[in-house]
Amino acid sequence: MAALTEAGVPFRENEPFSKHTSMGVGGPAAVMAFPRSAAELKRTLEVRAETKAPHRVLGGGSNLVVADEGLDELVINTQDLDHVDVADDGTVTAEGGANLVRTVVRCCRAGWSGLQSAVGIPGSVGGAAVMNAGAYGFSISDVMREIVVFDENGARQQPPEGWRFHYRGSSIPEGSAVASVSVALQPGDAPKLGEEIRELQMHRVRSQPPGRNAGCVFKNPPGGHAGRIIDELGLKGTRRGAAVVSEKHANFVVNEGGARASDVIEILDLVRERVAREAGVELELEVKVWRPRA
Ligand SMILES: Cc1cc2nc3c(=O)[nH]c(=O)nc-3n(C[C@H](O)[C@H](O)[C@H](O)COP(=O)(O)OP(=O)(O)OC[C@H]3O[C@@H](n4cnc5c(N)ncnc54)[C@H](O)[C@@H]3O)c2cc1C
Repeated sequence: MAALTEAGVPFRENEPFSKHTSMGVGGPAAVMAFPRSAAELKRTLEVRAETKAPHRVLGGGSNLVVADEGLDELVINTQDLDHVDVADDGTVTAEGGANLVRTVVRCCRAGWSGLQSAVGIPGSVGGAAVMNAGAYGFSISDVMREIVVFDENGARQQPPEGWRFHYRGSSIPEGSAVASVSVALQPGDAPKLGEEIRELQMHRVRSQPPGRNAGCVFKNPPGGHAGRIIDELGLKGTRRGAAVVSEKHANFVVNEGGARASDVIEILDLVRERVAREAGVELELEVKVWRPRA
């Protein structure tokens, strides 16, 4: 903390993850830093290296379940790294913490096409890059042109062609931090793009549950749909405390209010075990579960 103070990077002690995750569960981070620029992000990672503090990088918290006991670690929250630049040639450069949905809407309003399928994906641009987030056959890596990544010591890492992106993941290692992402978009018709994103939003409202959740909790297995398999096994409505497998979409676990991380994790374990035993399919988690390190 002294080193962060000296570096001029804002931070809070014992900051609850439940305030920073869409699922609304998770105990405190011992120290949560809030760098406001790429330079402060780099400096925070350097401080981390100097102090040898274990750490994690937090985006919008929309793909996370954090343990109830919290983490005795430095958590680098990217929420204040949120500048977005839309250039005249359709190159859009967003800092890692920029909100993805707001970035998509801004691009569409400015008449740039290519990102609209991502309009319903909450969280940050940096989180979307690491997760290679996408929907309707689109993944963010399809339009990515550049990505600036700092390693866990604050050194700038290799150019973008060095990273591999795959279904809901990438080779960007945990502990590295995405400082910014550039995407290349095509000219489009702003009113039509506006209509397209409204329809995509409506489709999500129809197909996904309201309330606190972390999106799809399992990846789709090759050639299959995790939600359909879970539904066919009659697991909708499975409940632990205030956490429940959604009746609307079986691949969503919803916190109905006051759920604990342990409730959510119990459901994830139960569903995975039942699907393996009864459907013979090994489901892989899409959400990240952050537990204290052993
Ligand atoms: C209602 C709802 C709908 C969703 N729909 C979709 C969907 O259609 N498609 C889809 O792909 N996902 C979907 N998701 C999941 C989630 O929104 C995406 O995975 C999102 O891209 C995660 O971004 P985030 O900033 O919230 O990341 P976080 O949840 O904060 O973190 C996820 C991972 O990314 C890492 N990370 C985050 N930011 C950075 C950074 N700047 N640098 C380095 N590492 C970082 C974290 O360390 C962690 O490992 C949905 C979630 C919700 C709640």
